[in-house]
Amino acid sequence: MRKYHFYLFCVVFILAFSACVKAAASKESSSVENNQQADPIRAEFALNTVCSITLFDQAKESVYNDIFNRLNEIENLMSAHLPNTDISRINAYAGKAPVKVHSDVFNLIERALYFAEISGGAFDPTVGPLVNLWGITSEKPRLPSRTEINAVLPLINWRNVELDRQNQTVFLKNASMALDLGAIAKGYAADEVISIIKEAKIDRAIVDLGGNVATFGVKADKSPWRVGLQNPEFGKNNRGAYIGIIPGPAKTVVTSGVYERYFEYNGTYYHHIFSPYSGYPASNGLMSVTIVADTSMDADALSTATFVMGYEKGRVLIDSIKGVEAIFVFEDKTIRKTSGLEFILTDSSYKILTQ
Ligand code: ADP
Ligand code: MG
Repeated sequence: MRKYHFYLFCVVFILAFSACVKAAASKESSSVENNQQADPIRAEFALNTVCSITLFDQAKESVYNDIFNRLNEIENLMSAHLPNTDISRINAYAGKAPVKVHSDVFNLIERALYFAEISGGAFDPTVGPLVNLWGITSEKPRLPSRTEINAVLPLINWRNVELDRQNQTVFLKNASMALDLGAIAKGYAADEVISIIKEAKIDRAIVDLGGNVATFGVKADKSPWRVGLQNPEFGKNNRGAYIGIIPGPAKTVVTSGVYERYFEYNGTYYHHIFSPYSGYPASNGLMSVTIVADTSMDADALSTATFVMGYEKGRVLIDSIKGVEAIFVFEDKTIRKTSGLEFILTDSSYKILTQ
């Protein structure tokens, strides 16, 4: 009998992952660390995931409100699934007319196209028709036929997005094209949250938007944050279980992995990061790619891009960008990482390869 099982682990996972950040952060188990665990954390569903924010010390209700208002504002501009967002309007006018958008949207699309270019199209913000065909962000994902996939593949082409900076308009050249900023918008949002935290002069914070983690400041004892790397294996009860720790200094850590959103059909797992070339979930031996960078937006785009490119090409891309580091976790439980990054393995069933 044919069987569909759908897994969306955002809620459980993100909350657990925040706990995981803290658990890793509190390894030294000083009393100060214990105090940190009692500090307030606020979590809400936005941007199609659970967003959890922890503000330490001077945590004010008004700052939480500012943050969640901003997240909702971003969702109301950038979501491809809500009606009347700038992105939905661009999609509705695909092949018909350019659409004037908010400058934040314009700038984010421009940045997305930049990452599409440097990744050779592995990251492609016009992946919308594929995402919709698979229904991967919906309640009812399904395995489409090869014919259906072949029919949408010609629509996936970032070069057919026309930007007019002067008029701040975006035009999708072909009818039925559709933008989906799901692989970069959370990173952009995390950077926006960090700006609000800085402006509010809050010294220490943890931002976790569906696995896009940004830490700000240092721990109470002045030591840097340590972020846990989620165990990326499919179908196991390992939400919040981490396989190792990335010690500070505070930067942003973003992971793209097979486990975040997937369904099972006839014993095969299908995840949510697609190869724009084949139309199927990217399959190249990787379970996850984690990027450590200065901005969450870049880390978000690069984690998706390298996940699709695979280790060889992805590694070349990461090595070419200053200040960006990566950890690649493979299906055979081996790990490769770039040299500028420290990673403390805590799960002995994994193995770090040095070359
Ligand atoms: P997550 O959303 O789990 O943090 P990603 O940042 O990798 O993971 O984003 C995955 C989302 O991006 C998918 O749900 C889909 O909306 C979109 N997407 C899937 N494949 C691609 C791709 N090749 N290029 C750009 N966006 C993609
Ligand atoms: Mg991404």
